[in-house]
Amino acid sequence: MNTVTVGNPLKNYIGGQWVESQTTRYEDVPNPATGELLSRVPLSTKEDVDQAVQAAKAAFPLWSATPVVDRARIMFRFQSLLLQHQDELAHMITLENGKNLPEAQAEMLRSIEMVEFACGMPTLLMGENLPNIAGSIDSQTIRFPLGVVAGITPFNFPAMVPMWMFPIAIAAGNTFVLKPSERTPLSSIRIAELLKEAGLPDGVFNVVNGAHDVVNGLLEHPDVKAISFVGSQPVAEYVYKTAAANGKRVQALAGAKNHHLVMSDADLRRAAKTITSSAFGCAGERCMAASAVVAVEEIADELVQYLIEESSALAMGNGLEEGIDLGPVIRDSHLAKVHDYIDKGVAAGASLVRDGREDAKNKPNGYFLGPTIFDKADAEMVIVRDEIFAPVLSVMRVKDFEDGLDTISKSRFGNGAVIYTNNGKWGREFVQRVEAGMVGVNVGVPAPMGFFAFSGWKESFYGDLHANGKDGVLFFTKKKTVTSRWFDDGDTSIGSQRIFVK
Ligand code: NAD
Repeated sequence: MNTVTVGNPLKNYIGGQWVESQTTRYEDVPNPATGELLSRVPLSTKEDVDQAVQAAKAAFPLWSATPVVDRARIMFRFQSLLLQHQDELAHMITLENGKNLPEAQAEMLRSIEMVEFACGMPTLLMGENLPNIAGSIDSQTIRFPLGVVAGITPFNFPAMVPMWMFPIAIAAGNTFVLKPSERTPLSSIRIAELLKEAGLPDGVFNVVNGAHDVVNGLLEHPDVKAISFVGSQPVAEYVYKTAAANGKRVQALAGAKNHHLVMSDADLRRAAKTITSSAFGCAGERCMAASAVVAVEEIADELVQYLIEESSALAMGNGLEEGIDLGPVIRDSHLAKVHDYIDKGVAAGASLVRDGREDAKNKPNGYFLGPTIFDKADAEMVIVRDEIFAPVLSVMRVKDFEDGLDTISKSRFGNGAVIYTNNGKWGREFVQRVEAGMVGVNVGVPAPMGFFAFSGWKESFYGDLHANGKDGVLFFTKKKTVTSRWFDDGDTSIGSQRIFVK
């Protein structure tokens, strides 16, 4: 890591300058694979938030008046810089988050795709018009940016989740304040530097580091027009309610418990490989990770055996090293909570068929947990009800397809759901009936590409317009519909005449 660039302690990025926070409170940012200190993050204050919002507000008139093709051109330059620096950024993601380098590189690719989507803003912002809706009257809908908007992001995708938000927001003419996760704040610092290098005017993009106080400062600030949030369910619900109560537009993407239904006709070895990669990749810290398997009874024994075999072949360690499949979880405090869930699963009667705590015994420094698998769990157990967000997978056994759908419907979450089958009828039925916003058919992580909406259901999402794609553009713009008539006295042309249809 280039510590000179990111600084220690970290600063905020406000109005194009690196500014020290007014706080006296800091938090350590360790490398989760080693426990070594990477940096310290300020827990900024509401005054810091106000400073950033004022900078963004001051930048808004000129930026919003800048032709959209020029705004898009800066996004093109930013995209080119991201391509140039993608390895460096991937390295930084692995350092601060722990996921292995190939996963971090994949994250960078998905981030770059979001910027590429935003480069199409001239087309995406086009309005609608209908001439002559009445005699000599034309009508058109045009779209405007909202003003100062804010993004609040989680630790698990430190580059990609911010890039679900600011490229669209900025290219659409808004100015932006980002509150990155205090647990993975480094990538955002580098992103700010690259945006400046791309020629983004000062004040259009700002970063305020910190935790609750920064979030509350943004939610309460009268000059913040919209909040885009991604994080856990209780915080998403709080952010949604508080932002709405303060008159803001809000979208809040929340937690998940993604169920994977395995039918008797599925290719079981392939399904087990796909589920293993989905459940244990990124140490299970993906909102689209498989966390509950729903297996039809007649194949359950065989599937569980394959899951144990596939997951036991994964190499656990520091994600910067070659050949590592599974990195650490984010913090020791998180690891302690996960251990507690494993104990609760055992106490509730689920059978622990693979205990990842054993794999971690020779790794005293990082926050490691090997692939952990429960069999014979049920929908009422806390290990199935709650999102654990770690490499812990629970298998439930069901009679048939209907029983499987019924089991999935008991979850309060509805982010992703997957079916493994070779039967088109089951595939189609599942797509139609399962209560989840993102569905996979024989695909382990059905996370949509950036030009589609990222659409969780139930308690996995609070709001109306989802993130990404056309929803993202609608979220960060407001509409104006204009009805106009121009008089030309003495004009006898057809435009002023009218045929009345009864
Ligand atoms: P988190 O909810 O702890 O934190 C998210 C953000 O909220 C952070 O910036 C944090 O500083 C802030 N925050 C945390 N507690 C707060 C509080 N009490 N008051 C105000 N702000 C608070 O989430 P996390 O642990 O960083 O990320 C993991 C979670 O994010 C998982 O639940 C995961 O499913 C979810 N996630 C969802 C999606 C999705 O698309 N639905 C995508 C990625 C992650």
